Amino acid sequence: MKLIEGKPIAEAVYAECAKSFAELKAAGHTPGLAVVLVGDDPASRAYVGSKERKCRELGMHSVKIEKPATISQEELHEVIESLNADDAIHGILVQLPLPKGLDEDQVILRIDPAKDVDGLHPVNLGKLAMEDPTGFAPCTPSGCQRMLIESGIETTGKNVVIVGRSLLVGKSLALLMMGKGEGANATVTVAHSRTKDLPALTRSADILVAAIGIPKFIGPDHVKEGAVVIDVGINRIDDPSAKNGSRLVGDVDFDAVADQCEAITPVPGGVGRMTIAMLMANTIRACRLKAGL
Ligand code: NDP
Repeated sequence: MKLIEGKPIAEAVYAECAKSFAELKAAGHTPGLAVVLVGDDPASRAYVGSKERKCRELGMHSVKIEKPATISQEELHEVIESLNADDAIHGILVQLPLPKGLDEDQVILRIDPAKDVDGLHPVNLGKLAMEDPTGFAPCTPSGCQRMLIESGIETTGKNVVIVGRSLLVGKSLALLMMGKGEGANATVTVAHSRTKDLPALTRSADILVAAIGIPKFIGPDHVKEGAVVIDVGINRIDDPSAKNGSRLVGDVDFDAVADQCEAITPVPGGVGRMTIAMLMANTIRACRLKAGL
């Protein structure tokens, strides 16, 4: 079994970012990312903190905008409009989920598609479907695809089963992998909570992707001998033996499944590492596109 770790692959993406960043700097441009955090969800705060840290490490301009959960929809739209108008900002990321009562779709619609580095605006989702390279693909699915490419896993003609149909992960990854480029040309099936006999379906997968949000949901019965398993899930579970009483696990029961896989991603240390790397790459590309480089 081969362990597909996120760190070395993310490092390769950061090395490309650093090279591109230096070229931009030499031409007088500094990529800038604005992250909008609404409310005080601790997990969202931690994700935003990691994004800020990575921006600083790369020398990028980084802005964090924090707003209380009581912000109105209109006030939040104004925040987005002002970032759209800010020439120092090339990427805007609204940390999801937003607190209850706020309409995420309406907020995403306000983001200038040229700054939508999370790839969730309909213009970018349309470009993803059309395989138009000027768009931005959502970061987690592009991270999964990059992991497959960098690990030398053939995707052409392979049966890929993705469990989970969210726009953020499953549906977008399906579009990427059924496309015609590298890390694609696959025959893709997307499963969800209404899928009948899920284990029989997932056992047909040469490459199985779990994006469900249920700890250790995928077990040995779901996985064909010799399959490649990509675990997108990030779930915090109680663990009295851990220092803070909890730990992160994926949607795959790693210990029960690993031996029957050709390759598998760990959690933590797998796909999660890639999401921020792809966000940085998208922001730098947004700056390049604006600069006409
Ligand atoms: P969502 O809750 O939006 O989607 C979950 C999907 O799983 C839905 O399509 C749902 O089906 C499906 N599902 C739920 N229960 C079952 C079941 N019993 N059998 C089959 N399918 C089921 O989650 P996300 O896509 O946003 O996230 C999925 C996981 O990935 C989470 O653990 C999340 O934390 C993690 N994640 C990790 C990221 C990273 O950077 N590594 C980034 C984003 C997410 P239905 O549509 O029918 O309800």
